[in-house]
Parts: sequence; structure tokens; C-alpha cells
Amino acid sequence: MTTHTTRMLIIGSGPAGLTAAIYGARAGMEPIVVQGLQPGGQLTITTDVENYPGFRDVIQGPWLMQEMQAQAEHVGTRMLWDTITEVDLDHGPPYRAKGDSGDEYVGDVLVIATGAQAKWLGVPGEQELGGKGVSACATCDGFFYRGKTVAVIGGGNTAVEEALYLTHHATEVTLIHRRDELRAEKILQDRLFAHPKIKVLWNQHVDEFLGDPMAGGLTGLKLTDAVTGETSTFTCDGAFVAIGHAPATALFKGKLETDDSGYLVVEPGTAKTNRPGVFACGDVMDHTYRQAVTAAGTGCMAALDAERFLATLEYVRNEEAQAAE
Ligand code: FAD
Ligand code: NAP
Repeated sequence: MTTHTTRMLIIGSGPAGLTAAIYGARAGMEPIVVQGLQPGGQLTITTDVENYPGFRDVIQGPWLMQEMQAQAEHVGTRMLWDTITEVDLDHGPPYRAKGDSGDEYVGDVLVIATGAQAKWLGVPGEQELGGKGVSACATCDGFFYRGKTVAVIGGGNTAVEEALYLTHHATEVTLIHRRDELRAEKILQDRLFAHPKIKVLWNQHVDEFLGDPMAGGLTGLKLTDAVTGETSTFTCDGAFVAIGHAPATALFKGKLETDDSGYLVVEPGTAKTNRPGVFACGDVMDHTYRQAVTAAGTGCMAALDAERFLATLEYVRNEEAQAAE
């Protein structure tokens, strides 16, 4: 077992964690990034990224994340291949974390950038057709359905917002929900029902995503009516699964303040959690925007907040050391 000690320990290597690392390294905090099971984060599972500022041409998600990592390493970040399985936030700073490898990590400040994962239905065809007609992010992929027909699966705020957003691109948007009422806010429902491009299919379970990943991608969905039990095939060019996001906060349950959906709560306008020296950034603390650029932005905030916290901590430690002499 090795103990890795740093002034700045970052959990997560998506845009939030890597941006925190770039700023932290440039501020001399010699950050360690523990990468987790998905090095580079969610953008590594997509292809075209067209909305990250600075690139006129279409870039690839995995390439963008490689570049962010290269930049973080270039300025002095240590990237470590491990997954944190336990954190001790009761004692500290410094804070301690344990990795799957058995290694221990100690950081004067802790930056949590573990992200959030879109929930998937887990039915046949979904994984195979991911990026080939099946998506979980309309803002990211909606543009590819200009002039085409799409389905959105879900009945919450996200599904309704995704459906409304997709009307800017698609000719026809069908919201498919498993019950006969939506849980989305009324104001969103009103907009949905009033929209001429949107129709709703009620009481429908999606049993399978149809199509050939190697030839043309998604062609439609196999549905079962929850009331009658009848099965049918729904034809569409794209399908957006919008059944919620799960923030990766299991590690911090009962240790840090979370909201009703499990997202870490930060002091408004900062990246500060309710523990001194513990900061959160990116999708793990943001259920509203959930974009690479906002994750990077809050990663920057976490590093700047951490730098100020460390300066105070080190000042206090120096004073104490002098008083003890
Ligand atoms: P994530 O990217 O989710 O990264 C989380 C990191 O935490 C990962 O590295 C993971 O390994 C690590 N981690 C988790 N748990 C642990 C642990 N216990 N120990 C160590 N590490 C851990 N946004 C855009 O702006 N434009 C797009 O075009 C776009 N396309 C998308 C396409 C898809 C298919 C998806 C799913 C999302 C897309 N997004 C897009 C959203 C964007 O990817 C996210 O908003 C962004 O990645 C969030 O960054 P993050 O750093 O907060 O978290
Ligand atoms: P959500 O509110 O949990 O809704 C998820 C929806 O997906 C529900 O309608 C649910 O159906 C459906 N669903 C879940 N699992 C399913 C499955 N296996 N098969 C089929 N359908 C399934 O999630 P969300 O819409 O992502 O919202 C999450 C949180 O973020 C909420 O608190 C929401 O208010 C908030 N949010 C707010 C805004 C906003 O303020 N503008 C925007 C987006 C999100 P049932 O209804 O049958 O359970």
C-alpha cells in the first residue's frame, strides 16, 4: 500500500476535475487526480462535440478530454489510475481517501468532481445503438436530427425540456412515457402540450431499440402498452433517453450535504461544500446545466476557492508553529 500525499486531491477526471487540476497545478498546489472508472468522464462516450468554445470545426469528445489531461499533466498534475472507495471527512483537513488499489490518498483540500451519469433503460439495442441514434443529451446531439423524427423517453422535467429543445431541429418530436401523467412542472407541461411539433404517447414501455449499429443506426422502438399489453413498433430516426441523471455521490452519503436528488450542495456562487476544505464541481453539484463548459467553469471555481482556503490554512499552521517555538 502506498500513501500519496498532496496539497490538492481531486476525485474525478472529467472536465470539472481536469480544469480544477490545471488551475491548481498552476497555483503550485501539485494536484493529484484520481481518475476513476471513466478516465476523461462522460465526454469519452460521445463522438462529435460542437458546443465547447474555441473550436470552429467539430471535435471529438475523447480527443477533447485527452487534450485537457495533457494540459493538466503539462502544468504538473499527477494522474493516478484508481477509484476511490472510501473517504474520511470527519477528520481533517487533511482529508483521507482509500482507493480500490489499496492505496491511500491524503489531501489538504479535497475537490470532488465525480460527475453524474445519465440513467439508461437497460433494454436490448440501447447500448449497441448508443451514438448511432440513441442518446441521453439533446443539447449535445439534437443538431444531428435536423429535419428528422425523434422520440424522447421519460416524463420528468428533463424529458420535457429535451423534447422542447429538439423542436428546434427535428420535424416531429414524440414524448414516450410509461404512465398517463407527467411528473414535469405544469409550466413545462403546458408548453409541451401546446407545441405543434410535439405529440405524446402515454402508457408505453420501451422494450427494445431497433436498428443495425453497422448500417444506418436506429430505425425505431419496440413498445408495449402498459394498459392493454399490445405491442407495436414506433418508427423514428433518433431516441433520447431522459429518465433522470444519477449524481455519483454514494461515497459522500451522510458525510456531505446533498439535495433531494442526491446532488452535492455548495454555498451559492462558490464550490464550497458544508465541510471546510472540501469543494465540489461539475455535474456532481449541478443538476441544471450539466454541460462540459459549465463543469469546467465550476472546476475553475473549486481550484480558486481551494487556493484561498489553503492560503488561510497554511497561515494558521505557521502561526501555530511559531507560537509553539
Ligand atoms: P464527468 O464527465 O461525469 O466525470 C466524472 C469523473 O469522475 C470520471 O472521470 C469518473 O471516472 C470519475 N469518478 C466517479 N466516481 C469516482 C470515484 N469513486 N473515484 C474516482 N473517480 C471517480 N456536454 C457538452 O457540453 N457538450 C456535448 O456535446 C456533450 N455531449 C455529451 C454526450 C453524452 C453521451 C453525455 C453522456 C454527456 C454529454 N455532455 C456534453 C455532458 C458532459 O459530458 C458533462 O456535463 C460533463 O462531462 C460533466 O463533467 P464532470 O467533470 O462534472 O463529470
Ligand atoms: P425525474 O424527475 O426523476 O423524472 C424521471 C422520469 O423518467 C419520470 O417521469 C419517470 O417516470 C421516468 N422514468 C424513470 N425510470 C424509468 C424507466 N426505467 N423507464 C421509463 N421511464 C422511466 O428526472 P429528471 O426529469 O431528470 O429531473 C431530475 C431532477 O432535476 C428533478 O428534481 C427535476 O425537477 C430537476 N430538473 C429541473 C429542471 C428545471 O427546473 N427546469 C430541469 C431538469 C431537471 P415516472 O414519472 O413514471 O416515475
